[in-house]
Amino acid sequence: MKKIILLLLAIGLLAGCALNLLTGRKQLSLVSESEVQLMATGQYKTFLAENKVLNSATSRDAATVDRIGARISTAITKYFATQGESSLLEGYKWEFNTVESKDINAWCMPGGKVVVYTGLLPVTKSEAALAIVMGHEIAHSVARHGNERMSQAMVQQLGGMALEVALAQKPQETRDLFMMTYGIGSEVGAILPWSRQQETEADQYGLIFSAMAGYDPREAIPFWQRMAAAGEGSPPEFLSTHPSDATRLRKLEQFMPEALKYYTAGK
Ligand SMILES: [Zn+2]
Repeated sequence: MKKIILLLLAIGLLAGCALNLLTGRKQLSLVSESEVQLMATGQYKTFLAENKVLNSATSRDAATVDRIGARISTAITKYFATQGESSLLEGYKWEFNTVESKDINAWCMPGGKVVVYTGLLPVTKSEAALAIVMGHEIAHSVARHGNERMSQAMVQQLGGMALEVALAQKPQETRDLFMMTYGIGSEVGAILPWSRQQETEADQYGLIFSAMAGYDPREAIPFWQRMAAAGEGSPPEFLSTHPSDATRLRKLEQFMPEALKYYTAGK
């Protein structure tokens, strides 16, 4: 463990660290955004082919996901333009899909490839709560948390080799790592939880994005309470990677005044 930490530090100091423009935080970055976007495009296509995707022309749930997706992606584009950080969205080609599944889950791959599982909808209950979850997942993506996590996993499991080398030499392991990193059910069955800091950042920016898209950020509190209740007994995968606890609720309360400013500004 000590060795891994030292190695992480060394790599961070030498070359692999990047300043995140959105959060202002330095992140370990062994994989480039364009590389992971390319990988995401392929893995997303495979995932959709292997799952039952609902058609938004015939499914009200899928139409809702599409509507939220359109509103949030517009809000994010506006947010980054205002901050002078539009480059963070380079290569983004948003796609929103709803898959029929009893799993309580949702995720966003690099480049804006989003999936909502129908099993999440009985917990979100309202369009606003669903928008908050989607905003949260999208925030993980634009804050490049997946790249950070994948870089850390590559140091631990593949000795920190560059992504293109890893893909050429250990294609299956690298793809498994990618799926695990983005919380997509993989053969490996391992779950990597997001770090506390990544969760806090995703909550903070997710609230802003969904509020700008016209959804009441206050819905986040009862949603996470429902999520905690849904996790009693056998917690869903989503809760294993996004623990719902008192710290999260307290931080959401702290972010609320700022998020509400974005919400009322759009009214
Ligand atoms: Zn999260």
